[in-house]
Amino acid sequence: MAQRNTWQRERVREALADARGFVSAQTLHATLREEKTGIGLATVYRALSGLATAGDADSLQSPEGEALYRACSTEGHHHHLICRSCGLTVEIEAKDVEAWAQRTASLHGFSEAEHVVDIFGLCTPCANRRAAAEGSASA
Ligand SMILES: [Zn+2]
Ligand SMILES: [Zn+2]
Ligand SMILES: [Zn+2]
Repeated sequence: MAQRNTWQRERVREALADARGFVSAQTLHATLREEKTGIGLATVYRALSGLATAGDADSLQSPEGEALYRACSTEGHHHHLICRSCGLTVEIEAKDVEAWAQRTASLHGFSEAEHVVDIFGLCTPCANRRAAAEGSASA
């Protein structure tokens, strides 16, 4: 079913791979609209959630509760450091978190525990830019 939408999903996948870090469906849709692909926002939403379900994209919730997606270069379970200003994303392993999650789950009698841990902050260039802007504003 929906064979005719395959190229659209493929185009969404490419746009996601080109994106710098985690992006929302709206952001990706805006990019695709600039290219005049005619791909609608609803299609972008569907394609993204399909890619995430298939394990071809990472998905997470921003602190504002918005769903964000990224084509990840790392396979398997991992975590992210995400700049909330420019979207720069670093894939990280977090062995402490794995150990803590296992320990905490089994302490409470939970099995098959999963977790999602991502760190949002400001990358160094963005933090420097912000500090410079604040410096000139107060001068
Ligand atoms: Zn990732
Ligand atoms: Zn940044
Ligand atoms: Zn983990």
